[in-house]
Amino acid sequence: MDNRKPFIAGNWKMFKTGSEAIKTAEELVKLVADVTDTEVMIAPPFTALSAVSDVVKETNVSLGAQNFFWENEGAYTGEISSAMLLSAGCKYVIIGHSERRQFFGETDETVNKKIKTAISSKLLPIFCIGESEKERISKDTFSILDKQVSKGLKGLFSDELQHLVIAYEPVWAIGTGKTATREQAQEVHLFLRSLIEKKFGNLLAKSLRILYGGSVKPDNIAELMAMPDVDGALVGGASLNAETFGKIVHF
Ligand code: PGA
Repeated sequence: MDNRKPFIAGNWKMFKTGSEAIKTAEELVKLVADVTDTEVMIAPPFTALSAVSDVVKETNVSLGAQNFFWENEGAYTGEISSAMLLSAGCKYVIIGHSERRQFFGETDETVNKKIKTAISSKLLPIFCIGESEKERISKDTFSILDKQVSKGLKGLFSDELQHLVIAYEPVWAIGTGKTATREQAQEVHLFLRSLIEKKFGNLLAKSLRILYGGSVKPDNIAELMAMPDVDGALVGGASLNAETFGKIVHF
């Protein structure tokens, strides 16, 4: 795995009120306090960010957001800027999750704008990509991923991508209980690393962390993490319970 530090990230999606989020974060912080060799992040909903930030401050758990808008400020009702996320204590932001692409009109172009804004404002992007079931069946997985990576990272240079994290999340595996096999995950992660090498050079390809996402659970994390190009996981459902997520962190 070269020198890539394993990264386990929890995406809470549209779950948890403020008090529920605080409770889960408090439990998690205790459960993973012993972990030094894996980076841990949770992404609560916007309304719980500040409260959870107070809980995780000075612990080994980082805070992330699930989305943001690329403008600095303005008349954009309902949107949140990068400065707002930073001031709420966020280090990371998830960009281009398939649910945002599917339900909220995100495209490779909007994803590209968000990645650029995140980088220039020093929020670390977790860039999500993945093929649908139909695309996998028609053997278009690699061409779809190539397109998502090329368009999502268009106009960016390798020295700007030092802190980029890619999350490979096959859409057919998200929330379905169907996990990609470790061989399927490894095959795609290796493809993505070679693609990054072709576009941005060997140095970035070697250091870039590629997470797997899609029905990750305590009982499948170890075999996924054993694959040479799987550097971590983006966990949805199984991150909502502190004990379950704690087990995944301790893979
Ligand atoms: P899941 O979600 O773990 O519930 O499948 C993963 C994700 O959407 O990041």
